[in-house]
Amino acid sequence: MTPNITDSISAEEVTDGSITNGFHQTETFNNHEQFSKYGFGTRAIHVGQEPDPHTGAVIPAISLSTTFKQSSIGVHKGFEYSRSDNPTRRSFEEAVAALEKGKYGLAYSSGSAVTATIVSTLGFGGHIISVNDVYGGTHRYFTKVAVNQGIETTFVDLTNPNNIISAFRANTKLVWVETPTNPTLRLTDIREIARLAHFHGAILVVDNTFMSPYFQNPLELGADIVVHSVTKYINGHSDVIMGIAVTNNPEINESLRFYQNSIGAVPSAFDSWLANRGLKTLHIRMRQHQENAMAVARLLEKSNKVESVIYPGLESHPQHTLAKKQAKGFGGMVSFRIKGGFDSANKFLQSLKLFTLAESLGGVESLAEHPARMTHASVSEEIRRALGVTDNLVRLSVGIEDKEDLLLDIQQALDAAVH
Ligand SMILES: *Cc1c(COP(=O)(O)O)cnc(C)c1O
Repeated sequence: MTPNITDSISAEEVTDGSITNGFHQTETFNNHEQFSKYGFGTRAIHVGQEPDPHTGAVIPAISLSTTFKQSSIGVHKGFEYSRSDNPTRRSFEEAVAALEKGKYGLAYSSGSAVTATIVSTLGFGGHIISVNDVYGGTHRYFTKVAVNQGIETTFVDLTNPNNIISAFRANTKLVWVETPTNPTLRLTDIREIARLAHFHGAILVVDNTFMSPYFQNPLELGADIVVHSVTKYINGHSDVIMGIAVTNNPEINESLRFYQNSIGAVPSAFDSWLANRGLKTLHIRMRQHQENAMAVARLLEKSNKVESVIYPGLESHPQHTLAKKQAKGFGGMVSFRIKGGFDSANKFLQSLKLFTLAESLGGVESLAEHPARMTHASVSEEIRRALGVTDNLVRLSVGIEDKEDLLLDIQQALDAAVH
């Protein structure tokens, strides 16, 4: 990547070095080296969150201003115009970067905008290798939009990392991985794919939405960029659409920042503030998501109304060992195949009382959906079959309600659906 940053906005370049805007007041939590000694919860609550130096407000005010006063031409407190950089957005970017063990965070108006921006930085031509059961919107972007920028994508089953080797071309610039995948929760060995990508001169992007920074940190495993749909676990309350990219590579950061400013798919200050508020409880939410998901998975595994259960935390998951090796947990997503095909799946989903039948995932409330007819309806039947997205497959986003209530709800819906 060869970034052209001559007109990108960098606070450090344009001030006299004494940034005193209140958002960078102390060195304690905004410095990459200094925060690293703190635990996850401490970082989630403190990084980028210094009290307002003028009022003492413990929670930084939402900075709605689109423009910022300059004391003389080009002399300001680190911000000029909010598309380029905004104090509330920057607080959030710094906080997520700290949780992903990265130096640079860049927030966008959606997870999809992150994908679009990263692909744009590749320039015309070029080749992408993507895991085959990538998020539907990412698949659509690669196959229907990136092609118009002369970019071709090859989709590969990466449960065996060696499958990638024959897919590399001279112009392969980027490898895109999601692990676990959606909805069949297959895993990819991030460290091994990073090694192979770098050997072939490509960078590795890992979509870490399903695990959240609490359970998995792909940058530590060799990824060059980690991306999230903030819409899911990071915000966690199903009321913000937003995305973020984190990297340790200064050139990638400059390039992404230039495109973030040039394309302008940036989040509002209000959404940045809401997402930052959600972020502060990410660690306790993820622990509860996982505890509940494990209990749900075990209940389903025991039930004679269920054909099979897919959850990386179960010993029966074919990649359970890899899950334990590269992640600190297994997350809150559980998929299963109900006995009796589509009709049972439909009856099960209609019978749930606490789980809501809806797309999306990662919020505090439990959701259930039917991938074949909902999230993956745009995928052709042939590809769905190859990916294992069958008509009896149900996907659960297990929320953080009381575990016993969720288990009772699942059991009564199974009883109603399968006799
Ligand atoms: C939802 C999602 C996206 C897209 O994010 P949006 O915020 O909806 O644009 C990308 N990847 C994964 C894994 C997702 O779940």
